[in-house]
Amino acid sequence: MNRQVPLTTKVASVHALFMKKEDLVTYIDQHADELFGIAQTIYENPEISKEEVHSAEYFRKLLQENGFTIHNFEQEELKNAFYAEFGTGHPVVAMLGEYDALPGLSQVGGSKEKKAVEDGAPGHACGHNLLGTCAFGAAIAAKKYLEESGQKGTVRFYGCPMEELLIGKVIMAKYHAFDGCDMAFSFHPWDANIPVSEGFLAMNNMRFRFTGISSHAGQAPEQGRSALDAVELSNMGVNVMREHIISSARIHYIITNGGEAPNIVPKEAASWYYVRAPHRNDVVAITKRVINCQKGGALMTDTTFEYENAGGCYEILPNEILCDVARRNFEEMKMSPYTEEEKELAKALSDSLPPEQVAKERENIGFADTSSAIHTGIISKESMSRYNISGSSDIGDVSWLMPFSIIFTATWPLGVNPHTWQSASASGNTLGQKGMLYASKIMAGMFYDVINDAEIFEKAQAEFNQRTEGNPYVSPLP
Ligand SMILES: [Zn+2]
Ligand SMILES: [Zn+2]
Repeated sequence: MNRQVPLTTKVASVHALFMKKEDLVTYIDQHADELFGIAQTIYENPEISKEEVHSAEYFRKLLQENGFTIHNFEQEELKNAFYAEFGTGHPVVAMLGEYDALPGLSQVGGSKEKKAVEDGAPGHACGHNLLGTCAFGAAIAAKKYLEESGQKGTVRFYGCPMEELLIGKVIMAKYHAFDGCDMAFSFHPWDANIPVSEGFLAMNNMRFRFTGISSHAGQAPEQGRSALDAVELSNMGVNVMREHIISSARIHYIITNGGEAPNIVPKEAASWYYVRAPHRNDVVAITKRVINCQKGGALMTDTTFEYENAGGCYEILPNEILCDVARRNFEEMKMSPYTEEEKELAKALSDSLPPEQVAKERENIGFADTSSAIHTGIISKESMSRYNISGSSDIGDVSWLMPFSIIFTATWPLGVNPHTWQSASASGNTLGQKGMLYASKIMAGMFYDVINDAEIFEKAQAEFNQRTEGNPYVSPLP
Protein backbone atom coordinates (compact mmCIF):
# COMPACT_ATOMS: atom_id res chain seq x y z
CA MET A 1 0.00 0.00 0.00
CA ASN A 2 1.27 3.43 -0.85
CA ARG A 3 -0.61 5.16 1.87
CA GLN A 4 -0.46 4.23 5.51
CA VAL A 5 -3.23 5.07 7.88
CA PRO A 6 -2.17 5.92 11.41
CA LEU A 7 -3.60 3.34 13.71
CA THR A 8 -4.93 4.11 17.12
CA THR A 9 -7.34 1.21 17.22
CA LYS A 10 -5.20 -0.63 19.72
CA VAL A 11 -5.60 2.18 22.21
CA ALA A 12 -8.43 1.34 24.57
CA SER A 13 -10.92 4.16 24.69
CA VAL A 14 -13.86 2.51 26.40
CA HIS A 15 -13.09 1.31 29.88
CA ALA A 16 -16.37 -0.14 31.02
CA LEU A 17 -15.94 -3.27 33.10
CA PHE A 18 -18.91 -4.82 31.39
CA MET A 19 -19.33 -3.35 27.99
CA LYS A 20 -22.84 -3.08 26.73
CA LYS A 21 -23.85 -3.27 23.09
CA GLU A 22 -24.07 0.52 22.88
CA ASP A 23 -20.45 0.73 24.04
CA LEU A 24 -19.47 -1.41 21.07
CA VAL A 25 -21.29 1.02 18.80
CA THR A 26 -19.47 3.92 20.46
CA TYR A 27 -16.19 2.06 20.00
CA ILE A 28 -16.81 1.68 16.26
CA ASP A 29 -17.89 5.33 15.97
CA GLN A 30 -14.69 6.41 17.69
CA HIS A 31 -12.73 4.54 15.04
CA ALA A 32 -14.83 5.65 12.09
CA ASP A 33 -12.16 7.89 10.56
CA GLU A 34 -9.56 5.14 10.75
CA LEU A 35 -11.95 2.64 9.17
CA PHE A 36 -12.78 5.14 6.41
CA GLY A 37 -9.04 5.61 5.85
CA ILE A 38 -8.46 1.86 5.56
CA ALA A 39 -11.34 1.49 3.08
CA GLN A 40 -9.94 4.41 1.07
CA THR A 41 -6.42 2.96 1.06
CA ILE A 42 -7.72 -0.34 -0.35
CA TYR A 43 -9.83 1.64 -2.84
CA GLU A 44 -6.85 3.61 -4.08
CA ASN A 45 -4.71 0.50 -4.50
CA PRO A 46 -7.07 -1.89 -6.33
CA GLU A 47 -5.86 -5.43 -6.98
CA ILE A 48 -7.82 -7.96 -9.03
CA SER A 49 -8.57 -11.56 -8.02
CA LYS A 50 -5.46 -13.72 -7.50
CA GLU A 51 -3.32 -10.58 -7.25
CA GLU A 52 -4.48 -9.20 -3.88
CA VAL A 53 -0.98 -9.46 -2.44
CA HIS A 54 -0.76 -5.99 -0.91
CA SER A 55 -4.37 -5.79 0.22
CA ALA A 56 -4.02 -9.11 2.10
CA GLU A 57 -0.70 -8.00 3.57
CA TYR A 58 -2.20 -4.67 4.66
CA PHE A 59 -4.99 -6.41 6.58
CA ARG A 60 -2.55 -8.93 8.09
CA LYS A 61 -0.46 -6.05 9.38
CA LEU A 62 -3.43 -4.12 10.76
CA LEU A 63 -4.78 -7.17 12.56
CA GLN A 64 -1.41 -8.13 13.95
CA GLU A 65 -0.91 -4.61 15.28
CA ASN A 66 -4.29 -4.93 16.92
CA GLY A 67 -3.34 -8.07 18.84
CA PHE A 68 -4.67 -10.79 16.54
CA THR A 69 -2.69 -13.93 15.76
CA ILE A 70 -2.25 -14.47 12.02
CA HIS A 71 -2.67 -17.91 10.45
CA ASN A 72 -1.62 -18.41 6.83
CA PHE A 73 -2.31 -21.40 4.62
CA GLU A 74 0.41 -23.50 3.05
CA GLN A 75 -1.26 -23.93 -0.37
CA GLU A 76 0.14 -21.66 -3.09
CA GLU A 77 -3.42 -20.99 -4.33
CA LEU A 78 -4.22 -19.50 -0.93
CA LYS A 79 -1.23 -17.20 -0.61
CA ASN A 80 -3.52 -14.15 -0.38
CA ALA A 81 -5.85 -15.82 2.13
CA PHE A 82 -5.43 -15.98 5.90
CA TYR A 83 -7.30 -15.76 9.15
CA ALA A 84 -6.56 -13.63 12.18
CA GLU A 85 -7.77 -14.85 15.55
CA PHE A 86 -8.40 -13.49 19.02
CA GLY A 87 -10.00 -15.08 22.08
CA THR A 88 -10.40 -18.50 23.62
CA GLY A 89 -13.05 -21.18 23.40
CA HIS A 90 -16.44 -21.30 21.73
CA PRO A 91 -18.32 -19.89 20.01
CA VAL A 92 -15.80 -19.22 17.27
CA VAL A 93 -17.28 -16.53 15.03
CA ALA A 94 -15.82 -15.84 11.58
CA MET A 95 -16.10 -12.35 10.08
CA LEU A 96 -15.55 -12.82 6.34
CA GLY A 97 -13.53 -10.12 4.58
CA GLU A 98 -12.83 -9.71 0.86
CA TYR A 99 -10.60 -7.20 -0.90
CA ASP A 100 -10.37 -8.00 -4.61
CA ALA A 101 -11.16 -5.42 -7.29
CA LEU A 102 -12.48 -5.74 -10.86
CA PRO A 103 -10.47 -5.37 -14.07
CA GLY A 104 -11.08 -2.25 -16.17
CA LEU A 105 -13.36 -0.49 -13.69
CA SER A 106 -10.99 2.19 -12.44
CA GLN A 107 -13.02 5.12 -11.13
CA VAL A 108 -12.33 8.33 -9.23
CA GLY A 109 -14.03 7.90 -5.85
CA GLY A 110 -16.76 10.47 -5.22
CA SER A 111 -16.92 11.61 -8.85
CA LYS A 112 -20.37 12.48 -10.20
CA GLU A 113 -19.43 11.19 -13.62
CA LYS A 114 -17.67 8.20 -15.14
CA LYS A 115 -14.01 9.06 -14.79
CA ALA A 116 -11.17 6.56 -14.53
CA VAL A 117 -8.15 7.19 -12.31
CA GLU A 118 -6.29 5.31 -15.04
CA ASP A 119 -7.94 4.00 -18.20
CA GLY A 120 -8.16 0.22 -18.23
CA ALA A 121 -6.92 -0.14 -14.66
CA PRO A 122 -8.84 -2.15 -12.05
CA GLY A 123 -11.33 -0.57 -9.67
CA HIS A 124 -13.46 -1.37 -6.62
CA ALA A 125 -16.82 -1.45 -8.41
CA CYS A 126 -18.09 -4.27 -6.17
CA GLY A 127 -17.12 -2.31 -3.05
CA HIS A 128 -14.85 -5.02 -1.64
CA ASN A 129 -12.74 -2.23 -0.14
CA LEU A 130 -15.75 -1.64 2.11
CA LEU A 131 -16.41 -5.35 2.52
CA GLY A 132 -13.00 -6.19 4.01
CA THR A 133 -12.92 -3.06 6.14
CA CYS A 134 -16.41 -3.71 7.54
CA ALA A 135 -15.32 -7.17 8.71
CA PHE A 136 -12.15 -5.65 10.16
CA GLY A 137 -14.20 -3.05 12.10
CA ALA A 138 -16.52 -5.74 13.44
CA ALA A 139 -13.55 -7.95 14.36
CA ILE A 140 -11.71 -5.29 16.39
CA ALA A 141 -14.96 -4.37 18.16
CA ALA A 142 -15.57 -8.05 18.95
CA LYS A 143 -12.03 -8.35 20.29
CA LYS A 144 -12.57 -5.27 22.42
CA TYR A 145 -15.69 -6.84 23.85
CA LEU A 146 -13.96 -10.14 24.66
CA GLU A 147 -11.12 -8.27 26.39
CA GLU A 148 -13.35 -6.00 28.42
CA SER A 149 -15.97 -8.56 29.39
CA GLY A 150 -13.65 -11.52 29.97
CA GLN A 151 -16.28 -13.68 28.25
CA LYS A 152 -15.38 -16.93 26.54
CA GLY A 153 -15.45 -16.83 22.79
CA THR A 154 -13.26 -16.32 19.74
CA VAL A 155 -13.39 -13.95 16.80
CA ARG A 156 -11.69 -14.67 13.50
CA PHE A 157 -11.24 -12.26 10.61
CA TYR A 158 -11.03 -14.25 7.37
CA GLY A 159 -9.09 -12.71 4.51
CA CYS A 160 -10.85 -14.24 1.50
CA PRO A 161 -9.30 -13.61 -1.94
CA MET A 162 -10.62 -14.29 -5.45
CA GLU A 163 -14.33 -13.68 -4.79
CA GLU A 164 -14.81 -12.09 -8.19
CA LEU A 165 -13.70 -15.36 -9.77
CA LEU A 166 -16.25 -17.10 -7.49
CA ILE A 167 -13.53 -19.46 -6.38
CA GLY A 168 -11.65 -18.17 -3.30
CA LYS A 169 -13.85 -19.55 -0.54
CA VAL A 170 -14.52 -22.70 -2.56
CA ILE A 171 -10.77 -23.42 -2.56
CA MET A 172 -10.56 -22.40 1.11
CA ALA A 173 -13.40 -24.82 1.91
CA LYS A 174 -11.66 -27.59 -0.05
CA TYR A 175 -8.56 -27.16 2.12
CA HIS A 176 -10.61 -26.98 5.36
CA ALA A 177 -9.66 -23.34 5.99
CA PHE A 178 -12.91 -22.78 7.88
CA ASP A 179 -12.46 -25.76 10.23
CA GLY A 180 -13.00 -24.85 13.85
CA CYS A 181 -15.52 -22.07 13.18
CA ASP A 182 -18.99 -22.29 14.69
CA MET A 183 -20.67 -19.63 12.56
CA ALA A 184 -19.83 -16.98 9.98
CA PHE A 185 -21.02 -13.43 9.38
CA SER A 186 -20.63 -11.58 6.13
CA PHE A 187 -21.52 -8.27 4.52
CA HIS A 188 -21.82 -6.99 0.98
CA PRO A 189 -22.16 -3.37 -0.16
CA TRP A 190 -25.53 -2.81 -1.89
CA ASP A 191 -28.12 -0.18 -2.72
CA ALA A 192 -30.40 -1.10 0.20
CA ASN A 193 -30.44 -2.30 3.80
CA ILE A 194 -31.19 -6.01 3.73
CA PRO A 195 -30.79 -8.80 6.29
CA VAL A 196 -30.57 -11.43 3.55
CA SER A 197 -32.59 -14.56 4.23
CA GLU A 198 -31.80 -16.36 1.00
CA GLY A 199 -30.48 -15.76 -2.48
CA PHE A 200 -27.56 -16.01 -4.88
CA LEU A 201 -27.60 -18.69 -7.51
CA ALA A 202 -25.55 -21.85 -7.32
CA MET A 203 -23.25 -22.13 -10.31
CA ASN A 204 -20.96 -24.36 -12.36
CA ASN A 205 -18.22 -23.04 -14.62
CA MET A 206 -17.11 -25.29 -17.48
CA ARG A 207 -14.83 -25.11 -20.47
CA PHE A 208 -15.15 -27.41 -23.50
CA ARG A 209 -12.44 -27.94 -26.10
CA PHE A 210 -13.18 -29.79 -29.36
CA THR A 211 -10.66 -31.30 -31.74
CA GLY A 212 -11.38 -32.18 -35.37
CA ILE A 213 -9.34 -32.45 -38.55
CA SER A 214 -8.11 -29.42 -40.41
CA SER A 215 -8.27 -29.20 -44.19
CA HIS A 216 -8.70 -26.73 -47.03
CA ALA A 217 -12.33 -25.59 -46.87
CA GLY A 218 -12.58 -25.22 -50.68
CA GLN A 219 -10.18 -27.81 -52.05
CA ALA A 220 -10.79 -30.75 -49.67
CA PRO A 221 -13.66 -30.11 -47.23
CA GLU A 222 -14.56 -33.83 -47.25
CA GLN A 223 -11.26 -34.54 -45.50
CA GLY A 224 -11.99 -32.06 -42.72
CA ARG A 225 -13.95 -32.49 -39.49
CA SER A 226 -14.94 -29.11 -38.07
CA ALA A 227 -14.48 -28.51 -34.35
CA LEU A 228 -16.53 -25.32 -34.78
CA ASP A 229 -19.46 -27.37 -36.11
CA ALA A 230 -19.24 -29.40 -32.92
CA VAL A 231 -19.37 -26.26 -30.78
CA GLU A 232 -22.32 -24.89 -32.74
CA LEU A 233 -24.32 -28.13 -32.65
CA SER A 234 -23.61 -28.54 -28.93
CA ASN A 235 -24.83 -25.00 -28.31
CA MET A 236 -27.93 -25.72 -30.37
CA GLY A 237 -28.60 -28.76 -28.20
CA VAL A 238 -28.32 -26.63 -25.09
CA ASN A 239 -30.55 -23.95 -26.55
CA VAL A 240 -33.42 -26.32 -27.26
CA MET A 241 -32.89 -27.89 -23.83
CA ARG A 242 -33.73 -24.54 -22.20
CA GLU A 243 -37.44 -25.26 -22.64
CA HIS A 244 -37.10 -28.41 -20.57
CA ILE A 245 -35.30 -27.17 -17.48
CA ILE A 246 -36.63 -25.19 -14.53
CA SER A 247 -37.42 -21.62 -15.57
CA SER A 248 -35.28 -20.13 -12.78
CA ALA A 249 -32.10 -21.72 -14.19
CA ARG A 250 -29.75 -19.70 -16.35
CA ILE A 251 -27.23 -20.95 -18.89
CA HIS A 252 -24.75 -18.59 -20.51
CA TYR A 253 -21.94 -19.39 -22.92
CA ILE A 254 -19.40 -17.80 -25.18
CA ILE A 255 -17.29 -19.27 -27.97
CA THR A 256 -13.70 -18.73 -26.94
CA ASN A 257 -12.18 -20.26 -30.08
CA GLY A 258 -14.03 -20.48 -33.37
CA GLY A 259 -11.16 -21.25 -35.71
CA GLU A 260 -8.51 -19.30 -37.58
CA ALA A 261 -9.99 -18.36 -40.98
CA PRO A 262 -13.10 -19.25 -43.01
CA ASN A 263 -11.07 -21.15 -45.60
CA ILE A 264 -9.58 -23.51 -43.04
CA VAL A 265 -11.78 -26.21 -41.53
CA PRO A 266 -11.23 -25.52 -37.80
CA LYS A 267 -9.22 -28.26 -36.14
CA GLU A 268 -9.81 -26.68 -32.74
CA ALA A 269 -12.72 -24.81 -31.23
CA ALA A 270 -13.81 -24.11 -27.67
CA SER A 271 -16.69 -22.81 -25.59
CA TRP A 272 -17.09 -21.58 -22.02
CA TYR A 273 -20.29 -22.17 -20.05
CA TYR A 274 -21.90 -21.07 -16.79
CA VAL A 275 -24.91 -22.95 -15.45
CA ARG A 276 -26.83 -21.26 -12.63
CA ALA A 277 -29.90 -22.21 -10.63
CA PRO A 278 -31.36 -21.45 -7.19
CA HIS A 279 -30.23 -24.83 -5.83
CA ARG A 280 -26.95 -26.64 -6.29
CA ASN A 281 -28.71 -29.97 -6.95
CA ASP A 282 -30.38 -28.44 -10.01
CA VAL A 283 -27.06 -27.03 -11.24
CA VAL A 284 -25.46 -30.48 -10.96
CA ALA A 285 -28.35 -32.12 -12.85
CA ILE A 286 -28.40 -29.48 -15.64
CA THR A 287 -24.60 -29.64 -15.95
CA LYS A 288 -24.83 -33.37 -16.78
CA ARG A 289 -27.26 -32.56 -19.58
CA VAL A 290 -25.06 -29.73 -20.90
CA ILE A 291 -22.16 -32.21 -21.04
CA ASN A 292 -24.41 -34.66 -22.91
CA CYS A 293 -25.09 -31.95 -25.49
CA GLN A 294 -21.33 -31.61 -26.04
CA LYS A 295 -21.04 -35.39 -26.43
CA GLY A 296 -23.80 -35.19 -29.04
CA GLY A 297 -22.03 -32.34 -30.83
CA ALA A 298 -18.83 -34.36 -30.99
CA LEU A 299 -20.60 -37.51 -32.17
CA MET A 300 -22.45 -35.68 -34.94
CA THR A 301 -19.29 -34.11 -36.28
CA ASP A 302 -16.78 -36.92 -35.84
CA THR A 303 -14.72 -34.82 -33.45
CA THR A 304 -13.57 -35.34 -29.88
CA PHE A 305 -13.91 -33.10 -26.87
CA GLU A 306 -12.32 -32.46 -23.50
CA TYR A 307 -14.05 -30.95 -20.54
CA GLU A 308 -12.61 -28.85 -17.76
CA ASN A 309 -14.50 -28.26 -14.53
CA ALA A 310 -13.40 -24.68 -13.86
CA GLY A 311 -15.18 -24.48 -10.51
CA GLY A 312 -18.59 -23.71 -9.15
CA CYS A 313 -20.33 -22.56 -6.03
CA TYR A 314 -23.37 -23.02 -3.85
CA GLU A 315 -26.41 -20.85 -3.26
CA ILE A 316 -26.90 -19.41 0.24
CA LEU A 317 -28.30 -21.90 2.69
CA PRO A 318 -30.82 -19.85 4.68
CA ASN A 319 -30.55 -19.64 8.44
CA GLU A 320 -33.67 -17.95 9.78
CA ILE A 321 -32.36 -17.83 13.35
CA LEU A 322 -29.29 -15.78 12.38
CA CYS A 323 -31.31 -13.74 9.89
CA ASP A 324 -33.63 -12.69 12.73
CA VAL A 325 -30.62 -11.76 14.88
CA ALA A 326 -29.34 -9.65 11.97
CA ARG A 327 -32.72 -7.95 11.50
CA ARG A 328 -32.92 -7.05 15.20
CA ASN A 329 -29.46 -5.47 14.98
CA PHE A 330 -30.42 -3.51 11.85
CA GLU A 331 -33.24 -2.06 13.93
CA GLU A 332 -31.04 -1.34 16.96
CA MET A 333 -28.27 0.45 15.04
CA LYS A 334 -28.52 3.82 13.34
CA MET A 335 -27.13 4.89 9.99
CA SER A 336 -24.79 7.89 10.23
CA PRO A 337 -26.37 11.11 8.92
CA TYR A 338 -25.17 12.24 5.49
CA THR A 339 -23.59 15.62 4.75
CA GLU A 340 -25.05 17.84 2.03
CA GLU A 341 -22.11 16.89 -0.22
CA GLU A 342 -22.82 13.18 0.23
CA LYS A 343 -26.51 13.73 -0.50
CA GLU A 344 -25.60 15.65 -3.68
CA LEU A 345 -23.29 12.86 -4.81
CA ALA A 346 -26.03 10.29 -4.13
CA LYS A 347 -28.51 12.32 -6.16
CA ALA A 348 -26.08 12.80 -9.05
CA LEU A 349 -25.31 9.07 -9.19
CA SER A 350 -29.01 8.25 -9.00
CA ASP A 351 -29.79 10.78 -11.78
CA SER A 352 -27.21 9.09 -14.02
CA LEU A 353 -29.37 5.92 -14.05
CA PRO A 354 -32.46 5.29 -16.17
CA PRO A 355 -35.39 6.55 -14.02
CA GLU A 356 -37.28 3.26 -14.55
CA GLN A 357 -34.37 1.37 -13.01
CA VAL A 358 -34.48 3.49 -9.86
CA ALA A 359 -38.30 3.33 -9.68
CA LYS A 360 -38.28 -0.45 -10.05
CA GLU A 361 -35.74 -0.86 -7.26
CA ARG A 362 -37.76 1.49 -5.01
CA GLU A 363 -40.72 -0.77 -5.58
CA ASN A 364 -38.69 -3.95 -4.97
CA ILE A 365 -37.30 -2.59 -1.71
CA GLY A 366 -40.59 -0.98 -0.69
CA PHE A 367 -39.02 2.45 -0.14
CA ALA A 368 -41.46 5.24 -0.93
CA ASP A 369 -39.46 8.30 0.22
CA THR A 370 -38.53 9.82 -3.14
CA SER A 371 -36.76 12.74 -1.42
CA SER A 372 -33.85 10.41 -0.58
CA ALA A 373 -31.62 8.82 -3.23
CA ILE A 374 -30.27 6.50 -0.51
CA HIS A 375 -32.30 3.77 1.15
CA THR A 376 -32.70 4.70 4.80
CA GLY A 377 -35.08 2.04 6.06
CA ILE A 378 -34.83 -1.74 6.35
CA ILE A 379 -36.45 -4.01 3.80
CA SER A 380 -39.57 -5.69 5.23
CA LYS A 381 -39.72 -9.47 5.54
CA GLU A 382 -42.44 -9.49 2.94
CA SER A 383 -40.41 -7.49 0.38
CA MET A 384 -37.37 -9.67 1.15
CA SER A 385 -39.33 -12.82 0.29
CA ARG A 386 -39.88 -11.39 -3.22
CA TYR A 387 -36.46 -9.73 -3.63
CA ASN A 388 -34.30 -11.30 -6.29
CA ILE A 389 -30.55 -11.76 -5.73
CA SER A 390 -29.58 -13.57 -8.90
CA GLY A 391 -25.82 -13.22 -9.04
CA SER A 392 -23.56 -15.89 -7.58
CA SER A 393 -20.99 -15.72 -4.81
CA ASP A 394 -18.52 -18.09 -3.21
CA ILE A 395 -19.93 -17.13 0.22
CA GLY A 396 -22.67 -19.66 -0.59
CA ASP A 397 -20.17 -22.43 0.08
CA VAL A 398 -19.45 -21.13 3.60
CA SER A 399 -23.19 -21.16 4.36
CA TRP A 400 -23.19 -24.91 3.71
CA LEU A 401 -20.37 -25.47 6.21
CA MET A 402 -21.86 -23.73 9.26
CA PRO A 403 -24.69 -21.40 10.33
CA PHE A 404 -24.19 -18.28 8.26
CA SER A 405 -25.59 -14.79 7.89
CA ILE A 406 -25.01 -12.14 5.24
CA ILE A 407 -26.21 -8.56 5.44
CA PHE A 408 -26.37 -5.87 2.76
CA THR A 409 -26.35 -2.18 3.63
CA ALA A 410 -27.00 0.90 1.51
CA THR A 411 -23.54 1.97 0.42
CA TRP A 412 -24.77 2.98 -3.05
CA PRO A 413 -27.81 5.02 -4.16
CA LEU A 414 -30.98 3.04 -4.87
CA GLY A 415 -30.93 1.38 -8.27
CA VAL A 416 -27.12 1.27 -8.55
CA ASN A 417 -25.94 -2.20 -9.51
CA PRO A 418 -22.62 -3.78 -8.51
CA HIS A 419 -19.81 -3.66 -11.11
CA THR A 420 -20.70 -0.18 -12.39
CA TRP A 421 -18.86 3.15 -12.27
CA GLN A 422 -21.58 4.46 -9.96
CA SER A 423 -21.01 1.70 -7.37
CA ALA A 424 -17.26 2.33 -7.63
CA SER A 425 -17.65 6.08 -7.17
CA ALA A 426 -19.76 5.66 -4.02
CA SER A 427 -17.43 2.96 -2.64
CA GLY A 428 -14.53 5.39 -2.82
CA ASN A 429 -16.33 8.07 -0.82
CA THR A 430 -17.70 8.63 2.69
CA LEU A 431 -21.14 8.05 1.14
CA GLY A 432 -20.32 4.34 0.84
CA GLN A 433 -18.11 4.28 3.92
CA LYS A 434 -21.02 5.35 6.12
CA GLY A 435 -23.05 2.38 4.91
CA MET A 436 -20.02 0.21 5.72
CA LEU A 437 -19.87 1.62 9.25
CA TYR A 438 -23.54 0.76 9.77
CA ALA A 439 -22.76 -2.81 8.66
CA SER A 440 -19.77 -3.05 11.02
CA LYS A 441 -22.02 -2.09 13.92
CA ILE A 442 -24.64 -4.65 12.94
CA MET A 443 -22.04 -7.43 12.72
CA ALA A 444 -20.50 -6.40 16.06
CA GLY A 445 -24.00 -6.33 17.58
CA MET A 446 -24.66 -9.83 16.29
CA PHE A 447 -21.39 -10.99 17.84
CA TYR A 448 -22.48 -9.46 21.16
CA ASP A 449 -25.79 -11.33 20.94
CA VAL A 450 -24.32 -14.76 20.21
CA ILE A 451 -21.70 -14.40 22.94
CA ASN A 452 -24.33 -13.48 25.51
CA ASP A 453 -27.07 -15.87 24.49
CA ALA A 454 -25.93 -19.47 23.97
CA GLU A 455 -29.38 -20.40 22.77
CA ILE A 456 -28.87 -18.49 19.50
CA PHE A 457 -26.00 -20.74 18.44
CA GLU A 458 -27.81 -23.89 19.56
CA LYS A 459 -30.90 -22.99 17.55
CA ALA A 460 -28.91 -21.80 14.52
CA GLN A 461 -26.92 -25.05 14.56
CA ALA A 462 -30.11 -27.12 14.88
CA GLU A 463 -31.58 -25.30 11.87
CA PHE A 464 -28.36 -25.86 9.92
CA ASN A 465 -28.38 -29.59 10.78
CA GLN A 466 -31.96 -29.93 9.73
CA ARG A 467 -31.43 -28.14 6.39
CA THR A 468 -28.32 -30.13 5.47
CA GLU A 469 -29.52 -33.53 6.64
CA GLY A 470 -29.02 -36.02 3.83
CA ASN A 471 -27.65 -33.22 1.64
CA PRO A 472 -24.16 -32.42 2.92
CA TYR A 473 -21.68 -30.02 1.29
CA VAL A 474 -19.78 -31.53 -1.64
CA SER A 475 -16.98 -29.39 -3.03
CA PRO A 476 -17.81 -28.16 -6.55
CA LEU A 477 -14.10 -28.54 -7.36
CA PRO A 478 -12.75 -31.72 -8.92
ZN1 LIG B 1 -18.61 -8.54 -7.65
ZN1 LIG C 1 -18.86 -8.40 -4.54
